Amino acid sequence: METEDFEQVRSAVHDFVRRRVVPLEEQIDREDAIPDQIREACKAMGLFGFAIPEGFGGLGLTMHEECRLVFELGYTTPALRSMFGTNNGIAGHVLLEGGTDDQRAHWLPRIAAGEVVASFALTEPDAGSDPSGLATAGRRDGDDWVLDGTKRYITNAPVADVFMVFARTDPDARGSRGISTFLVPRDAPGVTVGPRDHKMGQFGAWTADLHLDGVRVPHDAVVGGDDGVGRGWSTAMRCLAHGRIHIAALCVGMAGRLVDESVEYARTRRQSGHPIGAFQLVQALVADSVTDYQAGRAVVLQSATAFDDGTDRRVAPSVAKYFCSEMVGRVADRAVQVHGGAGYMRGVAAERFFRDARLFRIYEGTSQIQQLIIARHTIGEAAGD
Ligand SMILES: Cc1cc2nc3c(=O)[nH]c(=O)nc-3n(C[C@H](O)[C@H](O)[C@H](O)COP(=O)(O)OP(=O)(O)OC[C@H]3O[C@@H](n4cnc5c(N)ncnc54)[C@H](O)[C@@H]3O)c2cc1C
Repeated sequence: METEDFEQVRSAVHDFVRRRVVPLEEQIDREDAIPDQIREACKAMGLFGFAIPEGFGGLGLTMHEECRLVFELGYTTPALRSMFGTNNGIAGHVLLEGGTDDQRAHWLPRIAAGEVVASFALTEPDAGSDPSGLATAGRRDGDDWVLDGTKRYITNAPVADVFMVFARTDPDARGSRGISTFLVPRDAPGVTVGPRDHKMGQFGAWTADLHLDGVRVPHDAVVGGDDGVGRGWSTAMRCLAHGRIHIAALCVGMAGRLVDESVEYARTRRQSGHPIGAFQLVQALVADSVTDYQAGRAVVLQSATAFDDGTDRRVAPSVAKYFCSEMVGRVADRAVQVHGGAGYMRGVAAERFFRDARLFRIYEGTSQIQQLIIARHTIGEAAGD
């Protein structure tokens, strides 16, 4: 995208987030839902497809541009980004990374327009940090495949129209081998979605179990067609690498908001006849958060550049996700501290973001998994496996 066009999109999203979404944050948290008018406005701004190429109706942002846009989105409830996050990210990217031309042409324009909500279904009850242990089975039956299994904590499952389902198609293969990805429509017989999970935070963003009970799909539902059989693992890993930088950028956006909330409170709350910002120990809390925020921003932009030019799509995404998800946890904790008792109360933004931020260290690979990826790539063979 031309620099000027991108700046227009970024500045429109900046204004939209601050003027229209921030005032609704409390309502979204309380009602666990994004209002329809916000969803429609996001569609109109192209937010369901910012990471999808222009040829398929998306905005076609580079990773670097995407991160700068996500800094803006992260300034408000992460439920906003989650609404279109799977379309742009882990689910939409499955087709970009591994789909056939026909699959891309059929699905991506509708995904980019927000007409279709896509979910990424990898995690299972007994396969989370190590998804290569997945038990969902895909069995060939004539021209069809039959899928059986359960997927857990699937973002947007309650509203999804299509799932990217990872299943083992070679029962004799172990670990990351013999896994394929299937496009499974929500209305396929045998597909059921469980009740919405009752989460700690990020209200307005929904997850649920996905059950596949003898679900029959045609062979052309295999992502990548004939060539895609057995290739699901590498597709999943490439999507997650992109997703990890995206999540890191979201953490930076949230950290920026938490710094603003902390500064505003430090300026206005008074004790002993002074604003609390006059106390050096409060200043230290703010200074540490500003430092964390700026370091996170720098690491995200550097990893985005390395992703775009192809020099590092393995270690840098994990470094960014690990640092920024831990960083926003620290910043949220300090924001609560700056707010004192008020920071522990519902209705105060710092309290809500403190709950929301906790998820970032868990999904799309926990902090421990990022540490393992970083260490294994850095140390090499001596790190073992
Ligand atoms: C709100 C939410 C949304 C999600 N959305 C999706 C989605 O859309 N699609 C999807 O497929 N999944 C999704 N997930 C699943 C998420 O990716 C997993 O929860 C995550 O990968 C961790 O897996 P687990 O919950 O099974 O934890 P476990 O793997 O059981 O981990 C438990 C603990 O053990 C540690 N651990 C595990 N293995 C190791 C190891 N080898 N070395 C060191 N420590 C280890 C972990 O770091 C963690 O601390 C979502 C989860 C949540 C909570």
